[in-house]
Amino acid sequence: MAAKPSFTFLGTGTSVGVPVIGCGCEVCVSKDPCNKRTRSSALLRYGELSLLIDSGPDLREQSLREGFKSLDAVIYTHEHVDHVVGFDELRAFCWRRKDPLPLYASRETLAALERMFRWAFSNENKYKGYVRPEARVIEGPFEVGDVQITPLPVEHGAVKVNGYRFDAPEMKSIVYMPDVKRIPESTLELMQELDVLVIDALRDQEHATHFTTAEALGIIDLLQPKQAWLTHLSHENEHTKLEQGLPKGVLVAHDGLVLDL
Ligand SMILES: [Zn+2]
Ligand SMILES: [Zn+2]
Ligand SMILES: [Zn+2]
Repeated sequence: MAAKPSFTFLGTGTSVGVPVIGCGCEVCVSKDPCNKRTRSSALLRYGELSLLIDSGPDLREQSLREGFKSLDAVIYTHEHVDHVVGFDELRAFCWRRKDPLPLYASRETLAALERMFRWAFSNENKYKGYVRPEARVIEGPFEVGDVQITPLPVEHGAVKVNGYRFDAPEMKSIVYMPDVKRIPESTLELMQELDVLVIDALRDQEHATHFTTAEALGIIDLLQPKQAWLTHLSHENEHTKLEQGLPKGVLVAHDGLVLDL
């Protein structure tokens, strides 16, 4: 019997992670594991399928911690370093596959991956044992197995990002949107009648490219998902204090948290 559908928060931190190198603030020195945040990434499991969303710099640690050994595809939100630079760690997953590993991303993000990891994309296969990617450009909704994936284009400063909506039979609908500053009307339309919304809420203080807590709560109030989780959090957020101040149905994600879908 295949496992129940689930969504695992592999990482819930902003680009520098928490604790921040050299920082002695209350959150960075906290002993609460919920205040330790690796870089944002997630794993969706449905039946036999394991879909990784982004390959951040902590992928190795996250994979060992959560014990996942195989991947069927990687789906990228955007090309920022904190979401792609664990690409090298995809090697071990490729060793256990016969076929190349499908990488789904926008044209821009794929171009960035090809620039950053040029040797993996040259068809010469010069380096035995290296990542064998199969680049798949996202141009609209697509399917991996029985999972329907709808790209949700949003603005994140100058960078275009895809959040994603996942729908599948007998599974709660879920949107994952870790990096966002503005959601266009056309994207909001694709986010209706959601069971679970996972959304960027960097910190209270205004930021040029990320939602503040208040901005995230505004979107949650507008969309009224059954449940909402805040992610991509900075060291300005103390887990318990943040959670205490939130409306009912809004929760603070933490590394290793698994949602049953
Ligand atoms: Zn990010
Ligand atoms: Zn700190
Ligand atoms: Zn980003």
